[in-house]
Amino acid sequence: MVATLAAENWPAGHIGRRLGRWLRLNTPVNIEDTAVEIVCLDLEGVLIPEIWINFAERTGIDALRATTRDIPDYDVLMKQRLKILDEHGYGLPDIQAVIDDMGPLEGALDFVNWLREHFQVIILSDTFYEFAKPMMRQLGWPTLLCHKLEVNAEGKITDYKLRQKDPKRMSVKALHGLNYRVIAAGDSYNDTTMLAEADAGILFHAPDNVIAEFPQFPSVQTFDALREEIVKASNRDIPLS
Ligand SMILES: [Mg+2]
Repeated sequence: MVATLAAENWPAGHIGRRLGRWLRLNTPVNIEDTAVEIVCLDLEGVLIPEIWINFAERTGIDALRATTRDIPDYDVLMKQRLKILDEHGYGLPDIQAVIDDMGPLEGALDFVNWLREHFQVIILSDTFYEFAKPMMRQLGWPTLLCHKLEVNAEGKITDYKLRQKDPKRMSVKALHGLNYRVIAAGDSYNDTTMLAEADAGILFHAPDNVIAEFPQFPSVQTFDALREEIVKASNRDIPLS
């Protein structure tokens, strides 16, 4: 009798179905086991200089120094910036030439290369593809999610299109929906919803007021310290070099 219960006497299909059902019912799904880690980085102030402030310095157009701290409504601010650019005769190619000359922050390229060796990396920015392009080339074309400009045949910027509201947080949310574990780093107010949405959020190069207002996030000022924080936040053993 015992022999009839032995597996070799069962039809193979029957065993497969029984085993499959048993595994489905008894294997707990642990998201942490299957999630892949991804790092989301802000761009301006983290990997490259602040585009508008540097552009104002390089061109001597002081009116372009205004930021959301001076004009909180981003739409009003962007319309003003585009108007000033047009008044000074700057089309997109001229602007790109100035941005190309800025170059990434010192150490940024090494940092990005190290990061991409160990993590999937996405840059989440409130800039525009057309402005960021010269910098992306210098950083080895990492993936960038941001907004876009409308430019006419003569290179004049005629309008801009914001991709969505709260795009950095929405991107992290979407990545969670794809079962990624997200580590995020940024320097400013527009990064804090992204940092909060991430599994681990890190302030990098943040000014004192942001650090004081968001004490829940670790804050670092150098690329070496940022590497350490990211390694700490990872659920894997990542080498620092
Ligand atoms: Mg920034």
